[in-house]
Amino acid sequence: MTESSSPFSWAEARTWLAGLPDGGGLNLAHEAVDRHVAEGRGTRVALRLLGRDGSATAMTYGELAELTNRFAGVLTRLGVGPGDTVFVLSPRRALVHVAVLGALKARAVACPLFSAFGPEPIAQRLHIGQAAVVVTTAELYTRKLRAALAGLERLPLVLVEGDDAPEGTVALGPLLADADARYRIPETSPEDPALLHFTSGTTGLPKGALHVHEAVVTHAATGRLVLGLRDHDVYWCTADPGWVTGTSYGIVAPLVCGVTTVVDEADFDALRWYRILDEAQITVWYTAPTAIRMLMRAGPDAATGADLHRLRFAASVGEPLGADAVQWGRSALGIEFHDNWWQTETGGIMVANRPGVAVRDGSMGLPVPGITATLLRTEEDGTLCRGDDGHPIEVRDPAESGQLALQAPWPSMFRAYLGQPERYARCFEDGWYLTGDLVRRDTDGYLWFVSRVDDVIKTAGHLIGPFEVESVLNDHPAVAESAVYGVPDPVAGSVVHAAVVLRTGSGAPDAVLRSVLAHSRSLLGAAVAPRHFVVVDELPKTRSGKIMRRLLRARELGLPDGDLSTLEPSHA
Ligand code: ATP
Ligand code: MG
Repeated sequence: MTESSSPFSWAEARTWLAGLPDGGGLNLAHEAVDRHVAEGRGTRVALRLLGRDGSATAMTYGELAELTNRFAGVLTRLGVGPGDTVFVLSPRRALVHVAVLGALKARAVACPLFSAFGPEPIAQRLHIGQAAVVVTTAELYTRKLRAALAGLERLPLVLVEGDDAPEGTVALGPLLADADARYRIPETSPEDPALLHFTSGTTGLPKGALHVHEAVVTHAATGRLVLGLRDHDVYWCTADPGWVTGTSYGIVAPLVCGVTTVVDEADFDALRWYRILDEAQITVWYTAPTAIRMLMRAGPDAATGADLHRLRFAASVGEPLGADAVQWGRSALGIEFHDNWWQTETGGIMVANRPGVAVRDGSMGLPVPGITATLLRTEEDGTLCRGDDGHPIEVRDPAESGQLALQAPWPSMFRAYLGQPERYARCFEDGWYLTGDLVRRDTDGYLWFVSRVDDVIKTAGHLIGPFEVESVLNDHPAVAESAVYGVPDPVAGSVVHAAVVLRTGSGAPDAVLRSVLAHSRSLLGAAVAPRHFVVVDELPKTRSGKIMRRLLRARELGLPDGDLSTLEPSHA
């Protein structure tokens, strides 16, 4: 469903960008950094860096341009360029921005990794991405990278921040100091590979999705039209650059839009977060349901004294944002959370509650300008249904759910799954990109998330999306969070089970569960309400904060957990 009344087109969005000087093509890092310097915005603050230790420093666009030039010069001197992949394993500090954008200037592919990963997931990704270089800190090298490299056949060059390099690595400090502060970006085609991102691994092993420089067109357009970024905004994206949100909307989109980005090195802490929103004077905030739920758990007192009135726009992505969370934001904080939807593969926001369009609580919004979306009828096992003409069947009934499909291509669409060409080809059908997510579309075109195709539960003839059941459970005052999944059953096919995290001080678990069961039966009916509950302290989540229902199912069946590489104790 496109905005037919909107004059927007991707061709128009391209004109918002500068392009490399002298018709040299399109380079993402030029649009994010150098262009602002060339247009007289070099003294504007690009990054406001908050350290774990309470420090706060600023870096201007001019300084970032110079540092990324030096870094690109270092890579070029080392013979690293087109066709090479530069991984970055760093805490959330300027090093990430410098290395990612510098690598893009040198036309290498950049891949930031989540610094909280252990050696195994790091090794897996370095292997799939055939790393040429890893940029890191001495501490992370010693603690994780060294072990990760032990099993690799092809060893990357390891560049370590600062002047002292552990054995087997090279110190970046002296190389940067020697490099020229000017750098001429070589001619770059919009189709040149730029960013490599791994999916969260919620449904299986993480896949490496490759994006090209042209993606910056989507980042610029959605930065403006979906996040509403404009001059003098102070913006905070809470996602780590190791996830696609943290790069596309933590690094690229805000810089392309020329705003100031706050980068917080520390992990989630409710009091700290409210303090940042207040003291850093954030005007636009992009976060995730898992974080919003943790703020809900922390209670309204945590926000006492924080002045949030400058916050003009707040958005959420990554998982469904239930209506209860939207309503909580409104009543407890006076913040309107705008849910939006996209994937690692789409490279940018595709569906959104955007500024100026009324939010429907619990809906992920409308397709963004430039994106045509539809629903395709899909079998329970995930295969597409076809009409007599052999083509997929579009779902038009608002009561019927279908697989969300996007008309290909768009600028930030992934161009490959690394090493898996057949899998990539299977994602496309009749000109549509198949997302693997089931949604419903109401009569006004708003999209409502139902389930991942892989998570649908078929029980006694009913098809149930876990999210609708979780939404009802989460509405119970004693439930902080829940996850619903199907467990095979000889009679019903599957039965619905639920794992719940209870709010502290909610009472004796047995009595509370009886009340939650009664609540869910009265709202969902006995056929859909969970048959069995377990109380857990924490839901199993990927490091990017997504609930891993497959793991709960596997645990209950006593099966091996499958890939645990993305599952480590904390999240957010
Ligand atoms: P994998 O593909 O490896 O299983 P993943 O799909 O979790 O991992 P991501 O690309 O990080 O990896 O996540 C995209 C998915 O997250 C979407 O396909 C969707 O299922 C879910 N998602 C993202 N935003 C929303 C949202 N606003 N509402 C509901 N679901 C969302
Ligand atoms: Mg996925």
